[in-house]
Amino acid sequence: MPERSETESRKLLGRLRAAMAEDSAGQTRLDRIVQLIADSMATEVCSIYLFRDGETLELCATEGLNRAAVHQTRMRLGEGLVGRTARLRRVVNTANAPAEPGFRYMPETGEERYSSFCGIPIQRLGEVLGVLVVQSLSARRFTHDEVYALEVVAMVLAEMTELGVFVNGDSGALSPRHKQPVMIRGTVGQEGSTAGRVYLHEPRVLVTNPFSDDPETEARRLREAIDNLRGNVDQMLAEAITIDADQVQVFEAYRMFANSRGWLRRMESDIANGLSAEAAVEKEQSLARLRMGQAADPYLRDRLHDLDDLSNRLLRILTGQGRETGAEMPDNPILVARNIGPGELLDYGKSLRGVVLEEGSVGSHAAIVARAWAIPLVVHAKGITAEALNGDPILVDGDQGIVHLRPDDQVRKAFGDKLAMQTRAQERYSSIRDQPARTLCGTEVALHMNAGLMADLPSLPSSGAEGVGLFRTELQFLVRNKMPRRGELEALYARVMDSAQGKRVAFRTLDIGSDKVLPYLKPNDEPNPAMGWRAIRVGLDKPGVLRMQLQALIRAAKGRPLAVMFPFVASPEEYRAARAELDKAVARERILGHPLPVTIEVGAMLETPSLAFAPACFFAEVDFMSVGGNDLKQFFFAADRENERVRRRYDTLNSSYLRFLAGIVARCREAGTPLSFCGEDAGRPIEAVALAALGFPMLSMRPASVGPVKHLLRRIDLKEARALIEAGLARGDVSLRPELTDWLSRSANPGG
Ligand code: PEP
Ligand code: MG
Repeated sequence: MPERSETESRKLLGRLRAAMAEDSAGQTRLDRIVQLIADSMATEVCSIYLFRDGETLELCATEGLNRAAVHQTRMRLGEGLVGRTARLRRVVNTANAPAEPGFRYMPETGEERYSSFCGIPIQRLGEVLGVLVVQSLSARRFTHDEVYALEVVAMVLAEMTELGVFVNGDSGALSPRHKQPVMIRGTVGQEGSTAGRVYLHEPRVLVTNPFSDDPETEARRLREAIDNLRGNVDQMLAEAITIDADQVQVFEAYRMFANSRGWLRRMESDIANGLSAEAAVEKEQSLARLRMGQAADPYLRDRLHDLDDLSNRLLRILTGQGRETGAEMPDNPILVARNIGPGELLDYGKSLRGVVLEEGSVGSHAAIVARAWAIPLVVHAKGITAEALNGDPILVDGDQGIVHLRPDDQVRKAFGDKLAMQTRAQERYSSIRDQPARTLCGTEVALHMNAGLMADLPSLPSSGAEGVGLFRTELQFLVRNKMPRRGELEALYARVMDSAQGKRVAFRTLDIGSDKVLPYLKPNDEPNPAMGWRAIRVGLDKPGVLRMQLQALIRAAKGRPLAVMFPFVASPEEYRAARAELDKAVARERILGHPLPVTIEVGAMLETPSLAFAPACFFAEVDFMSVGGNDLKQFFFAADRENERVRRRYDTLNSSYLRFLAGIVARCREAGTPLSFCGEDAGRPIEAVALAALGFPMLSMRPASVGPVKHLLRRIDLKEARALIEAGLARGDVSLRPELTDWLSRSANPGG
C-alpha cells in the first residue's frame, strides 16, 4: 500500500476516533462522520445507508444530498446502485453513475447531478449492515487507494454499528441492533415446539475498539497473538496425529494459514492504516466469509472455513473472550450454533430445550442426538448466529422449521396458545400411558420406542412404550472420538438392560457407513455411500468389531433374554453369516464357562426391497423381522433420504408402497415370523394407522410419538381402516392419504 494512502486513511481514522470520543447522540455522530469523510476525500457527497430490516436500506446520514431525505429515502436490497452494492457485497465504483445498470433516480435527494459513485458495503463477518457511499460531480473513478481507505472506514463503521454507537433510542435503522423481532425459516430437524432463551455455542467476540491507538503496539499485539496461535495449532496437530488422519489434514491447513506471510502482511498493513489488531483480523475474516459464500469449489470452501475458524481463535486470544468466558446458561436454554458435533452437543446435557443450527443437516449426527433427546431442532436457519445474542427470547417451531427471535407480543401469544395445546395433548397422552394401544375393534398394536443413548432410557416408562424395538448401537460409537472397548460396551449394554427393567430391548448391531461416519475411522470415499459399504456389509468384511459387539451383548445379557438384529440385510447369506458369528461367540462363552443369556432372538432388518423377495424358508428361519422403513422407502422410490429435494417427494401412503408393505406382512404371517416396523413413519399418527391396518403388529418409534400414536389407535376401528385401504388399492388410487385423512377426521379427529 503506497505511503500516501496509509497516512491518509490513518489521518481519517484519527479524525473519526476523535469525533467518536465526543459525547454526542447517535445521529450527531453519523452526521459528523459523513462530514469528515466528504471533507477528507474531497468529494461533494458522502452518505451512510443502514438496513432498517433485512430487505430495506435507509439513508441515515448525508453530506451533500438533501438533508430532508435522511430517514425518508429507502430502497430495497438490490434496488439502485446502493441496493446493488449491498446485494453484491462488493464495491461498486463508477465514473458515470446514471449509465450504470440499476441506477435509480431519487428526486428527493437531488442526486442526478453527481456523476461518480462509489458504494462500499459496511459489513461485519460476512453480514452486510449497510452501505457507505461517496459521490462527486466530476466524472472520475475513485482510485484504488481511495477505495482502500473507504473500506477501512466501512470496517470501522461496521464495528461501531455492532456496538450500538449510532443508536438514537428511537425506532428505525438507528434503533439498537439485535433488538428487533426476527423470524427465520429453516428446515425441520426434529418436530416439537419450545420457548426459551438463546445460548450461543460460540458467543460473538465483540471488538470494543476498532481504532489503532498506536500502530506499533497493535502490530506487536498481533504478532504475539499469532505466536500464541501457532503454538496452539502445533499442539492440536501433535494430539491429532495419534487419533485421526483427517483431523491432521485440517490442522495442517490451520498451520499453513497461521504461518502464511500474506495473511499476516495484510493484517499488518490494515493496522498501519489505523485499525486495531482485532479489527484487522475481523477485516480479513469478513473477506474470507465473503469468498466462502461465493466459492463453488468445495475444497476452497473448506479451506476458507478453516481460515474462519482460525480467525475466531485469534480473536479470542486477542480479546480474551474465550468460550469459557461466555454467558451462564439461561433457564430453558436453546442452543444456537453454526454447526455442532454430536460429542459437543452431548456435553451440554439434556437441559437444552431445543437446538437451532445455521448449517447442520437433517441426517447429521448432532441431529440424531437431538432426535434421541426428542428436543425440537431447526437446521439451515440462515443468519441466526449473526442475529442472536445470548439470553435473547426465542421460540422454536420444530414442526414448521421456523424460529422467532425476540418475538413481539402477538407472536408470543400465538405461540403460547400452540404450546398450551401441546401441553393439553401431553396430559391426554399421560392419562393413557399405561393402557394398551387397543383399537375399537379390539386389535392390540405393540408400541415400542427407538433409542440409542443411555439418556433415552428414562423415556421408556414415561412414554408408555412396551419396550425398545430398535436400539441403534452406532450412536455410542459416533459420539466418541475413539473406538470403545469391549468392556465399556458390555457395561453399557448391561446398564441399558438394567434400565429397561425386564422390558425387551432389540439391539441392532453397528450400522456405520452411509451418513454415519465414525470420527476415528477413515471414511470411505464412496460415490454413493447409502448404497455402499455399510452396516452388515462392513460387519462381515471386517468382523473384528462385530465379534466384539456380539460378545459384549452376550456377556451383558447373562441370565436374561437377548434380542439382536442385523441391519441392512440384503440377502439371506448375509444374515446366515452374521448369525454364525453370533453362534460362535455363544459357543466360546460357553467353553469359557461364562453365564449365557436365557434366550437369544436373532432378527434381520428388512431395509432393501430384495429381502422382501427372499425364499420362504428364510422368513421361517429368522426369529423376527424388522422393517427399517427409512432405508426401505428410499430404496423403493430411489429417493435419497438425506436429499432435501427428493426426500419428501414420495409419500408413504403411496399405493405401490403400501401394496409392497402388505406383501411383507403376508410373507411373515405365512411363515409365522414376528414382524415390526421401526422407521420414522411408525411415529407419524396417520402413517402408523395405515401400518397397523396393513397388519404390522408392532411399531417402534421415537418416545415422544408413542402417546399421539396410541391416542389415535385407541379411537379408531382398524378393520374399517383396512377395508378403506383395500378398497383404494382395488380402485387404483395412487395415494391413500386423502381417503385416510378424511376418514380419520370424521372418525377420530387426529389433531384432537
Ligand atoms: C431405518 O432405516 O428405517 C432404520 C430404522 O434405521 P436407520 O434410520 O438407523 O438407518
Ligand atoms: Mg436403516
